[in-house]
Amino acid sequence: MATRRKFLENIAISSIGVSLLSNPTSLLASPKEIYEGPMLRVAIMGLGSYGTRVAEAMQDCKKAKLVGVISGTPSKITDWQSKYGIPKKNCYNYENFDAIKDNDDIDAVYVITPNGLHCEQTIRVARAGKHVICEKPMGINAEEGQKMVDACKAANVKLLIGYRMHFEPKTVHVIQMRKDDKFGQPKFFQGQSGFVIGDPTQWRLDKELAGGGAMMDIGIYSINGARYILGEDPIWVTAQETKTDPVKFKEGVDETIQFQMGFPSGAVANCLSTYNMNNLDRFFMTGSKGWMEMKPSTGYGPIQGRTHKGELTQPHVTHQTLQMDGMAELIFNGKQPIVPVDGEEGVKDMKIIDAIFKAAKTGDKVEINI
Ligand code: NAD
Repeated sequence: MATRRKFLENIAISSIGVSLLSNPTSLLASPKEIYEGPMLRVAIMGLGSYGTRVAEAMQDCKKAKLVGVISGTPSKITDWQSKYGIPKKNCYNYENFDAIKDNDDIDAVYVITPNGLHCEQTIRVARAGKHVICEKPMGINAEEGQKMVDACKAANVKLLIGYRMHFEPKTVHVIQMRKDDKFGQPKFFQGQSGFVIGDPTQWRLDKELAGGGAMMDIGIYSINGARYILGEDPIWVTAQETKTDPVKFKEGVDETIQFQMGFPSGAVANCLSTYNMNNLDRFFMTGSKGWMEMKPSTGYGPIQGRTHKGELTQPHVTHQTLQMDGMAELIFNGKQPIVPVDGEEGVKDMKIIDAIFKAAKTGDKVEINI
């Protein structure tokens, strides 16, 4: 594969290459192989299940490349080195990764560790002068999120949050339909996000590391989705929590929360976030002129959906591949996706989560100013 790519790189600048490029039926001259622009060189921090998924997806990126790792497990580092050809000088652990500041071969670090570690790790990466891509939720509350935004600003590096749906073709199409007034005035959004979580000892059920329960992990998709489908930020929330298993879901770890959001236009959203029910990955919206439904709406895909105009037919592309190429374009050329993926966007979701937790605890309608 490497040899074939090298061959294609060479012919791209030769006269044969020019003739291949001018022939649209050429099987050889695929866009991946002729990309000559800047490459975002990324180190992944946290080589767990999602980090592995991102690494695999990045093998198909044309503008971003996996070049480094940060991990506390030496055997994972050597595995990834041999699998992805990562040089030793680009490998770090959680103690020494501040030294990445002296590594000119790394542009950005993708933080894919438990939520409760994101804030401190992001700030350290920013201080090392590298761009940060951080997984959702960006931290465990809005205060942490704001600290992360401030640290990245102070260090003059970009902070991007792993909102992969903002690059997903069917989602982008529906957002564009809303922007083009195809739905008229959006009136009502319904978001259902949940699954039955397994192993009770995992970090996702540890308040310190997760910052909560289902809401931080999966409910955030309904919050973010309501905002990008309706095109507004909420001004109030109400919420009701139910817990059927207080042993598995300890104090501060939410099992199921139903929540409602009100928007400046008068639109409302009614959502469910849970770690105790399956088959919940659905968005529905109705407006004054039309409607949309996506199910699955935020899983790894293929996403499926329809609107009053018919089925959504945009092709499935691995979300994380599109995301990382899109983020490279954002970092190098300032090209923004249809909905932002910056730290400020992450802070908005954190403020809403803070308000939902408060509403669930007090029973009050909680006003928010985002
Ligand atoms: P995981 O448990 O599979 O991986 C977490 C990694 O962090 C592991 O390699 C682990 O060794 C490492 N780690 C470092 N310090 C740790 C500590 N003190 N305790 C526990 N683990 C520690 O989790 P994951 O599913 O990869 O999730 C990681 C992050 O990615 C989370 O923030 C999660 O919300 C996010 N995520 C996002 C998506 C998405 O679709 N955008 C999907 C899954 C996970």
